[in-house]
Amino acid sequence: MAGKNKTKPLQADICRGFFETNKLTNADFADFSDFSDFSDFANFANQHNCIIGICDALPLTTEKSRLSAAKTPFVTPNIEKRINPTLALPTAKSVIVLGKPYLPSPHKNLSSLGCGTDYHVTIKNLLKKLLQLLDCKNLNCKNSVKSVIMVDSGNLAERAFAVKAGLGFWGRNNMVISPKLGSFFNIGLLIVDIPLPTTPATAAISECPQNCNRCIQACPTNALKPYFLDVSLCTSYITQKKGTLTEPEQTLIGDQLFGCDICQLCCPFNKVDKTSAKNTDIISDILNMQQKEFDQQFGKTALAWRGLTQLQRNANIIAGNKNKS
Ligand code: SF4
Ligand code: SF4
Repeated sequence: MAGKNKTKPLQADICRGFFETNKLTNADFADFSDFSDFSDFANFANQHNCIIGICDALPLTTEKSRLSAAKTPFVTPNIEKRINPTLALPTAKSVIVLGKPYLPSPHKNLSSLGCGTDYHVTIKNLLKKLLQLLDCKNLNCKNSVKSVIMVDSGNLAERAFAVKAGLGFWGRNNMVISPKLGSFFNIGLLIVDIPLPTTPATAAISECPQNCNRCIQACPTNALKPYFLDVSLCTSYITQKKGTLTEPEQTLIGDQLFGCDICQLCCPFNKVDKTSAKNTDIISDILNMQQKEFDQQFGKTALAWRGLTQLQRNANIIAGNKNKS
């Protein structure tokens, strides 16, 4: 099998949208067994406007302390489940990481997370298609590929695996930054039980510019330290938190209805037209909205994931904050 790889030029541009400056060579595919041609993957990435990277399914080692310190809400406190793909799929051999770019929000107090079609659905569908492709290519294997898909739904630390798979590097704003796409992309994982060639870490640019501190200075709540996010102070997390918020949390929301993109909008890797954000009063729209109207207007977005009740909670807090100021 390995001989095939050496004679046939492999389509290193499986990640073409991303790895333009980082072309892979056949040597990068030395472990490649049943798959000898990645042109379908390159086409897939191009057709679906996404980036793809692959890493092995060995547990993350260097990220363990960072992830333990982060105390991220909405994820399991069991650190082993966050770093070890075989705890999700015991026969796991490879992790395919897909990044799907999204547009910045047109509304000034609504994160891009809440705009556009719900990325959970979009990315899950893309990963299912990718799995079909793998199944078709897995000609030498009688069994279909065993897999687990995670899009903000499993235990693995998605961003850490995106870095391992070469999609980008850790920014000081705690986001994964692709030198080509910036940080405005969502991530999904496809864990599979077949060995695949791994893509190397981003070579051209692999860290934030030494003197850049923009995200830390721009954060309105001082939630950011270099490469560390204090989630208890982060507006984005607080707007997504369920239940009744404490007084300090209500203050930290400021005028953000859902999510917060400030530490991304200021990043030089994100080429954003900041003048395009609307100042439309989405807050009073949400306050006065009935469920039926909400479903019609936002039913397909990630806003529906948190629901109207929670958004109205946030909108009421914002109205209260305005009265205080
Ligand atoms: S999302 Fe907003 S509050 Fe959270 S770290 Fe970034 S700028 Fe600060
Ligand atoms: S704003 Fe600067 S320091 Fe912050 S993530 Fe972007 S490049 Fe890195």
